[in-house]
Amino acid sequence: MPHRNLKIAMLCVHSCPIGSLGSKDTGGMSVYVREVADNLGKMGHAVDVFTRVHDSDYEPVSEMGSNARLIHLPAGEDLEIDKLALFDYLPDFVRNVETFRRHNRLQYDLIFSHYWLSGHAGQLLNRQWCVPHVIMFHTMGAVKNTFAVGEPEPELRIETERKLTHDCDYVITATQQEKKAVIRHYGARPEQVRVIPCGVNPEIFRPIDKVAAKVKLGLNGSKVILCVGRIEPLKGIEQVLRAIPHLPEVKGAKLLVVGGDEQSRSEISRLRRLARDLQIGDSVTFLGLVKQDELPYYYSAADVCVSPSYYESFGLVSLESLSCGTPVVATDVGAARSIIRSEEAGYIVADNSPHRLAGKIALLLSRPNDDPSSISNIRSSVSQFSWARTADGVNRVCQEALADHHTLML
Ligand code: UDP
Repeated sequence: MPHRNLKIAMLCVHSCPIGSLGSKDTGGMSVYVREVADNLGKMGHAVDVFTRVHDSDYEPVSEMGSNARLIHLPAGEDLEIDKLALFDYLPDFVRNVETFRRHNRLQYDLIFSHYWLSGHAGQLLNRQWCVPHVIMFHTMGAVKNTFAVGEPEPELRIETERKLTHDCDYVITATQQEKKAVIRHYGARPEQVRVIPCGVNPEIFRPIDKVAAKVKLGLNGSKVILCVGRIEPLKGIEQVLRAIPHLPEVKGAKLLVVGGDEQSRSEISRLRRLARDLQIGDSVTFLGLVKQDELPYYYSAADVCVSPSYYESFGLVSLESLSCGTPVVATDVGAARSIIRSEEAGYIVADNSPHRLAGKIALLLSRPNDDPSSISNIRSSVSQFSWARTADGVNRVCQEALADHHTLML
C-alpha cells in the first residue's frame, strides 16, 4: 500500500484530549488521542484534533505534538452541557469546524472520530466533505448495557452506534472481543473492522525502586494494593473493597484508589461508606487525580495492581502497571488475555467476585515483588505494545480507506 501524507481531522468532541486524566469523562480515550495524534504527526501526517470548548480558559489553537494541533471550538452557548444533551449541539459544532476549515483554507483527506458523539459529528461533516470516515467507539452502549451496572446507556446512543457502523468506512477496535461485539451488536461487516491494540509509553511508565517509591509516598513497610482509573460503577472498585476482608493479611495491607474528580464525588462517597461498613476504612485511601508522570511511583510502590472492571474496551491501566514491573489481577475483559501472559505478570479472574479477587491478590501479596529480574521480565512482557505501533496500524487503515475511496470515485 503506497504511503501518502494525509491531512487528518480527528474528532474528540465531548472530552478534551488534554483534560485531567481520571476525571469523569477523561481517561483512556484521551490518552489514545494524544498519543496517536502525536505519532501520526511524527510519521508525516498533519493532524488537527477538534474538541469542544468546555471552560473559559483555553487556547483556540495549540500544539499537541509533532505536526498535531488541538483546536477548541464552541458547541452551544453553555460551557457545561451534559454529555447526552451535547448530541443536540453537534450540528453547531460541525458548523464551527467547517467555518474554521474554510477560514484557514484547509482540505482534510480523512475523518477519524472517537466515541459515538464524535462519530455522529463526523458523519454530519462528511455530508459536506465526502472523505473516508474511520471511527473508534472506545466503548459501546449495547455492550455496556449487557452488564447492567450503573446508569443504562440510552437507546439514542445504541441506535447512533448502529447507524454509524453502517455508514462509516472502517471501525477500529482495540481487541478481537470488541471486533466480535461490533459485528454482533451493530451488524458490522467483518472486513470493515480492524483490530489495533493500544500502546504504552515506556518512558513514562518505567519501574522505580519499590522501597524508594513506597518511602516517597509515605507507605514504608505496608503491602500496597492499587486501583487506578475513572471512578464509576462499571470499574468494579466496590468488588475490591469487598475482597479486602477476605485477605488473610489485611492488617498490613493498604488499598490505594487513584482517580476521580468533583464529578465523581457521589460515587467516591458511596465507596467510602462501604469501606466503613466493611470496617476497612483505615486500610483504604482515595487519592483523587494523579498526573501520569507521577503514576509510576504508585505503580512501582504497589505489590499488586487490580483491574476489577466489568467492562473495558482495552484497559490501559493493566498495561501501564506491567510496564512498571508490577503484577496485575484483572477480570477477563478488554486486552487482559493478551497482556497478562504468565503467572509472573499476574492473574486473570473469571469475574470480579470478592473471593476470586482476594485469592489472587493474596497470592501476589505473599510473594516477594521486588526481585529485579522478575520486575524486568514483567516489563519486557509488554514491550511490544507501543503507541508508535498503534499509530502505524491506524495509518494502514487510513491509507486503505483512502484507496477504497478513490476506487469508488473512479
Ligand atoms: N489516569 C491518570 N490519572 C488518574 C487516573 C487515571 O493518568 O488519576 C489514566 C491512566 O494512566 C490511564 C487512563 O487514565 O492511562 C485510564 O485508561 P483505561 O484504559 O484504564 O480506562 P478508561 O478511562 O479508558 O475507561
